[in-house]
Amino acid sequence: MKTNEQTNKQKKGAKMATYGVKTWRKVDFYEVIKTPKDQIIGLSFPRSDLNLGLEPSILSVLPDGDNVHYDMKNRDHNDCNVQLYLCSVYISGMEEFVSWAQRHDTSKIVVGGYHPTTFPEDFERYAFKIVQGPCDDIWGTIKQPGKVVKGIVNHKRVPRRDLYDIKYNQQIIPDKKPKDVVVSINTSQGCAMKPPCDFCCTPIMCPILLSRPLEAVEKEVRSLVQYKPKFLFIRDENFTMQKDWTERLQIIHGLLPKTKIYLFASANTLKEPALQEMAKQGVYMICLGLEDITVEYTKNRTLDQVVRWMKNNGIMTYLSFIVNPHKVIGREAGKDFYDKLMSRFHELAPEMVCGNFLMPFRGTALWDQYYAFVSPEDYKFYDSKTPFLIRNPIVREKMQFFMFWYQWKYYTSDFYNNNVRKFETGDTLHLRFLELYDQFSAKYQKIWNVRP
Ligand code: SF4
Repeated sequence: MKTNEQTNKQKKGAKMATYGVKTWRKVDFYEVIKTPKDQIIGLSFPRSDLNLGLEPSILSVLPDGDNVHYDMKNRDHNDCNVQLYLCSVYISGMEEFVSWAQRHDTSKIVVGGYHPTTFPEDFERYAFKIVQGPCDDIWGTIKQPGKVVKGIVNHKRVPRRDLYDIKYNQQIIPDKKPKDVVVSINTSQGCAMKPPCDFCCTPIMCPILLSRPLEAVEKEVRSLVQYKPKFLFIRDENFTMQKDWTERLQIIHGLLPKTKIYLFASANTLKEPALQEMAKQGVYMICLGLEDITVEYTKNRTLDQVVRWMKNNGIMTYLSFIVNPHKVIGREAGKDFYDKLMSRFHELAPEMVCGNFLMPFRGTALWDQYYAFVSPEDYKFYDSKTPFLIRNPIVREKMQFFMFWYQWKYYTSDFYNNNVRKFETGDTLHLRFLELYDQFSAKYQKIWNVRP
């Protein structure tokens, strides 16, 4: 029979075996004394998406130094060890940010990004500096007097990719297999479209086109060579709006000659010679905004012609489109909208399509029309995949289903597979849609006969 003492010894032995020679008390003690007291922590709200992410923009703001870290998980930190929290906050991350900030010393918090730029008053209680617009010189920026300050950009620094694991980058694009490395770069910020497209928040964040000097672009591209990327995404909102975009592309392609490049551009900036040059310089796909097909956009007057030129030059077309939930309420309206959309897909034959629900942003031309439908509780739904302008949850779910379903129908159609490209290739586009199919088929069973 075992005595109590034997049993206790065995329990202790088991604990030691599990945790090694350190007890929890020792682990905590050593962790605390060896942690430097001057850390600078970068955080992004909402937290980085580990499945669909790209290098977070906060990496461009984080200063040099071994005391600087990027926290992908937005954990709680011991304020005593931290001199500065640098937080990038997008509208959908507001709730998560507020809850995190309430547990930290707000006299050490600096916020920037889209939401602090447009709603600085929402951050008064949670930060000692509120940075508006782009910023890559954090020390110069926070030295400025006042609580709300303009971000200073001096283009001297390369984003701190050393604080981030590039393998978290994952993009849903044609031909990219899950293990292929993708990197991204900004060569400019903002968009100077006049008047700006009525839904777009880019000109609110940065109303002028702010191009980085060519030397800064070259320095950053050189730093990307070590990753041997198979794909590179130029994240500029409208790359070809820059007069010297050809030189920028030559720099990128010259240093990464085997890398497939894709980028955003507006159709009004593209002509056939430009597309010939792009094809020569490694561009494999251009993302054009089809937007809301019931609206005429100045930038899209030549869209059909531009897509034909892209096809002639072997460049894939990626069309993003907007669904305004108010325009697809009810069976008739929904069918009418999606019939028109599918006709456009058949006319333009894009290799990739991507649907987004309309999200009205403050400061845009659409805001006055929609602000009455938006409340702070909706901020977390600014992910473009939730039709939050609709209150009825059944209608919301049906709208989400149909947006997926029409894209699925397009990708699996004979038209796409015989005339555009094969869908079932095991690339991230195909795999993502299989995931969505599983997700939505369950939803479909549940909601089909439910009337709102
Ligand atoms: S062209 Fe593109 S970036 Fe510029 S305002 Fe329109 S949608 Fe926004």
